[in-house]
Amino acid sequence: MERYKHILLAVDFFEPAQVVIDRAKALAQTYQATLSLIHVVDNMPLPDAGYGLDTAYNVDLTGEMIAAAKNKLSDLAKKLGVEQDRLWVELGSPKLEITRIAEENQVDLIVVGSHGRHGFALLLGSTANGILHHAKCDVLAVRLQDN
Ligand code: AMP
Repeated sequence: MERYKHILLAVDFFEPAQVVIDRAKALAQTYQATLSLIHVVDNMPLPDAGYGLDTAYNVDLTGEMIAAAKNKLSDLAKKLGVEQDRLWVELGSPKLEITRIAEENQVDLIVVGSHGRHGFALLLGSTANGILHHAKCDVLAVRLQDN
């Protein structure tokens, strides 16, 4: 069997799951694969000033969210022994960005949690499901138990 050479772990900071992180790390060790990390800052539609909303809501926090995500991903990388040049923080649709980065970087396995922010009521969360449908490589959805 071909061994995995490049594993991409998709990290959701809203509901970070240690079991998913541990599984990706163990697989990378087993296969002596490169481990990379990705977090996607979801691009949410921002209220438009034209709606006449209170200006407090009309603030673009994208820059702050990207900076915070970079810090968190960098901390996690240090704990896992992942090189700082193996981190991606992207802006956009999580499923599309994760599969794009995977394709562009010859990733052969994407590791995700079975659910997180968008999927606690579902068997397979919407991001996990979307990645499964869009990815051209293997995808491991690590089963998370409901509390
Ligand atoms: P969900 O489908 O949103 O319930 O999330 C399922 C899994 O997809 C999570 O456990 C993460 O592994 C991954 N994921 C969800 N959202 C993101 C995100 N914004 N960036 C990176 N990975 C994510």
